[in-house]
Amino acid sequence: MQFLPNFMNMDLFMEHNDWAKVLKPLIAKYKEEKHPLDYHNIYQLMVMVVLSAQDSDAHINKLAPALFEKYPAMKAFSKAEKHDLEPFIGKVRGFDKKAGWLLEIANALKEDKNIPTTMKDLVALKGIGRKSANVIMREAEVKAEGIMVDLHVLRVVPRLGISQAKTGDKMEKDLMAVLPQEMWSDVGMAISFLGRETCRPTNPKHSECILSEHCEYCHIHNS
Ligand code: SF4
Repeated sequence: MQFLPNFMNMDLFMEHNDWAKVLKPLIAKYKEEKHPLDYHNIYQLMVMVVLSAQDSDAHINKLAPALFEKYPAMKAFSKAEKHDLEPFIGKVRGFDKKAGWLLEIANALKEDKNIPTTMKDLVALKGIGRKSANVIMREAEVKAEGIMVDLHVLRVVPRLGISQAKTGDKMEKDLMAVLPQEMWSDVGMAISFLGRETCRPTNPKHSECILSEHCEYCHIHNS
């Protein structure tokens, strides 16, 4: 465990944290890390992001190659019927609803080049919320309009002490308020990777964590 400053009260400890400065090394650590979904273009990412909600990235990665061999682009996907998709994604949690959303998206967009890259246009698509839109915009390398908050971020950020928000939307707002826009694109995935590898739901590996010196949870449990 790294040495923690022995502040008399938690407010002073938290005021001490300049989160933009604190989180910079974390972003540097994970900047080149590939997204856990094994996609090869924005069309594939969009489909996989929709499928992965309430399912696991590993499960979606496993079924994606056969799906994309059959439907290599949005144009082919837009001609499919729901029953055509069942052999490929029938075991995905929420198949019926997700297949309906994806077919609706494919019918509206028709071609990969029409996939939008703004928050407003992405969240207008069925099955795409702010979390998915932030992921797609990051991978499309357009300017971020928000911060990706997934289940890992929802667990790690309160432990760090940045925000105690219980919903993704509120936590995203809190993070946007304390971090400059140039960090928005990468910081969500960086915190998510920390959650996947180090700040696990049970037995977080504090001694390996590069943020332990600035972490409220660590400070409380160490004092
Ligand atoms: S110090 Fe521990 S609780 Fe804090 S972010 Fe790191 S692993 Fe999580």
